[in-house]
Amino acid sequence: MTIAIDGPAAAGKSTTARFLAKKLGYLYIDTGAMYRALTWKALRDKVDIKSKKALSELAKNTQIQLKPGPNLENKVYLDKQDITSFLRSSEVNRYVSLVSSVKEVREVLVAQQKQIGKKGGIVAEGRDMTTVVFPEAELKIFLKASLGERTRRRWMEEKEKNLSYDKKEIAAGLTSRDRIDSQRKISPLKISQKAIVIDNTHLNISQTTNKILDILKRKLVR
Ligand code: C5P
Repeated sequence: MTIAIDGPAAAGKSTTARFLAKKLGYLYIDTGAMYRALTWKALRDKVDIKSKKALSELAKNTQIQLKPGPNLENKVYLDKQDITSFLRSSEVNRYVSLVSSVKEVREVLVAQQKQIGKKGGIVAEGRDMTTVVFPEAELKIFLKASLGERTRRRWMEEKEKNLSYDKKEIAAGLTSRDRIDSQRKISPLKISQKAIVIDNTHLNISQTTNKILDILKRKLVR
């Protein structure tokens, strides 16, 4: 089966998708990591982020590979170099939504994502999994949480890494990314018709994962 999960930034998609993949013995695909990898390369190579042509060329000339790590997290290889630890920087956060709004960039990465998932047995998460990349997915989930809770979760993550970001700054970053991601012309973040919406503001990761597993069980019994 294909399980597709979409939702705004910091809604718990990655951890939930990874836990689900682990329970089901599926492959976890973090598509945001691919857009982040390309953004990181654009910043490293000082590519003009405002030039669609330059970004499109960059996408065509870049090899991005996702490999499952020990906890099924995605290790990201860019032109064969492991760049996983660079992908969550504030610089990448700031520019990734601009890079991912370019049509030609999406065409290249969406084709790769479809290829990775073509045999099924995957839990894929991102912004257009349920609508564009895997519209035929057997289970479609839209995961959301309040901005306050998403900010708190991101802030906790940063704190664990000994980075001290201001909560207001984090909230502003998430809001800005969500706005660009849901207002862009191509593949905007939206709730697909057949998606089941789960608000996990008051749920932890195992509760969220179990909720999805219950939905899956009910689907299989029917
Ligand atoms: O999921 P994550 O927050 O790592 O995604 C980073 C960014 O990549 C998103 O804010 C969005 O701009 C872009 N993205 C996308 N389509 C996807 C996954 C991520 O446009 N399928």
